[in-house]
Amino acid sequence: LDRLSVNYHGNLSISSERVVVLNDALLQKYQTILSYSADIAIQTFPDLAVEIALDVLSSSHLEGLAFLLKPLSRNHAKAYRTAFDAAFHQKYNIPDGIKIHPHPPTEERLELFGELGLRPVMVTHPAWTVIHGSGAYLPINEYARSILLASPPVADIPGLAHIRNAFSMILPALPAQNITVRQYEKQAPTVVWDKKDNIFAFALPKPCEDHPDDQCLCWVGPSLQEAAKDYKAAQINPSKLFRAYLSCMGGDASMKSINRSSTAMDVGESTKEPPAFIGPYEMLL
Ligand SMILES: [Zn+2]
Repeated sequence: LDRLSVNYHGNLSISSERVVVLNDALLQKYQTILSYSADIAIQTFPDLAVEIALDVLSSSHLEGLAFLLKPLSRNHAKAYRTAFDAAFHQKYNIPDGIKIHPHPPTEERLELFGELGLRPVMVTHPAWTVIHGSGAYLPINEYARSILLASPPVADIPGLAHIRNAFSMILPALPAQNITVRQYEKQAPTVVWDKKDNIFAFALPKPCEDHPDDQCLCWVGPSLQEAAKDYKAAQINPSKLFRAYLSCMGGDASMKSINRSSTAMDVGESTKEPPAFIGPYEMLL
């Protein structure tokens, strides 16, 4: 029994040795119906829904409600969210007006909560399975992605043309207007590829450590790499990616190397003097 005084076991069977049976078909049927009833109750009775949410949050034993409740769909995400939001405020005595966002114990991006104006609340893994399974809350990184995608585009920014140029080589079918920089300044994510609309949304570049006073293009390379990582429709070949980067930055992307030893041979192997020709590779040193 938890707060609601619900018997999560029902009438347990007793074996011939007078041992309680905890895994028979009858118990499973009882728990399935209990889960279904709680799911319907959350959709139907807002006050009871808060009590059920509190029971989910305080379940500590394997037969508790957090382990039994399996939301049937994400169609009632709003009802679940309303119930859990009220339960969080009540359980942790958090004043109204503070936006709460739960996370499982394994969450690593805790700094994102504050950046997004959310109060993090840790819940157990079984409780998180219910909360996430109902669609009430997203994992924080997915939530941040949705915020980046919903942020308005900025008109133009140094480097955007370079990125569009690089993508015209990597994914020729992707229209340039599908690649935008958004008014989003959080630490993560830096770019999101939206599968539904086939668009890339880049966050505003972070200030450059090496050129704090200039609007430099240092963000272009790392952002292209992040974008390629996020693009799930196909794997982007790294060679292609780096060629496109080099080309969009005005470099020679023909990828023909200058062979030092053959150059030395050309000018005569016996001479000790360095070769007269200085190729692009040497110029970089
Ligand atoms: Zn820079």
